[in-house]
Amino acid sequence: MKDFGLSKETSVGTYLDPMSGFHEKASVFEIRRDEISGVTSRILPYRFKMPQKPDLSGYLEKSPPAICPFCPELIDPLTPRFTADICPEGRFRRGRATLFPNAFPYDRYNAVITLSDEHFVGLDAFRPELMHDGFRLAWDYFERMARIEPSLRFASLNWNYMPPAGGGLIHPHLQTIMGEKPTRFAARLLGSAGAYRERTGRNLWTDFLAREKDLGERHIARTGPVTWLASFAPKGMGGEVVFYFGERTALRQVSAADLSRFLDGLACVLGYLHANNFISFNLALYGAWEENRDLMVQGRISPRFSIPPLGTSDINYIEKYHDEVICPVVPEDLCREILPFFAAVLP
Ligand SMILES: [Zn+2]
Repeated sequence: MKDFGLSKETSVGTYLDPMSGFHEKASVFEIRRDEISGVTSRILPYRFKMPQKPDLSGYLEKSPPAICPFCPELIDPLTPRFTADICPEGRFRRGRATLFPNAFPYDRYNAVITLSDEHFVGLDAFRPELMHDGFRLAWDYFERMARIEPSLRFASLNWNYMPPAGGGLIHPHLQTIMGEKPTRFAARLLGSAGAYRERTGRNLWTDFLAREKDLGERHIARTGPVTWLASFAPKGMGGEVVFYFGERTALRQVSAADLSRFLDGLACVLGYLHANNFISFNLALYGAWEENRDLMVQGRISPRFSIPPLGTSDINYIEKYHDEVICPVVPEDLCREILPFFAAVLP
């Protein structure tokens, strides 16, 4: 895997184990470095499992539909509207999904999308049909903004689902960013592909996906043009799934049909998370609006959780201040375990 800058180093921590009469115990772990993404993960070889599904009733009690600004009764009076030059109707709509400006912007062009008028949707209930209009709205918005300001070349679609992942409201919603420059992580992906192209004359993403497919260790499935992999070096304690819209090197090339196949796969990933007692995740999908062969449209999804019994955060000093991740989920095990969840959508 040297060509792609993926490396593993095995190391051992030893101690005298109080659980076995203080006999010496050796714990093997791996340090994995992914030079494409710049992520370093410390993989611990035991399978972390959430012992039970966290109780959702507290979230539902504190955030009922009656006070939810994304529910049908309040969305019109309480959510921001666009100026007429961007959207004469004030908000973008498709079916039961709505897109409007973020009331707490962190970028010039930062929008929020409610997926539907359903206030709470469990991870096992995100059917592709339920997500489709909301995801399509992101493309409607990108298209409109790119026409108004062609310098907006980079965009992302993002999802903090439920409070453990940073979700401020439980009503399912996405967030988009569109800007002249990529965010730092997307810039790293672009830089890696650019350096690979200069070195080899080839496309990093095409070669990388071909190699992962040949290896078979982390290649989960393909749904239409979308390849799903277990991340070699996960950017999350609960493991990570990465996805690539094969041969789509511009967001504008992603068709409604491509999106449907992507959502088929995403529903499978969410089904796996639900079955493993997760209730929360982060997702990001990155791309350039116009063709940029160094940035195949791609993204990542990782569960987020509080560790029982104290509700300990899944982010600690290693991730916060050392820019590394401790992950007790072996990526190749994740690949094997998630595969059955894709059975229904594979040919
Ligand atoms: Zn709501």
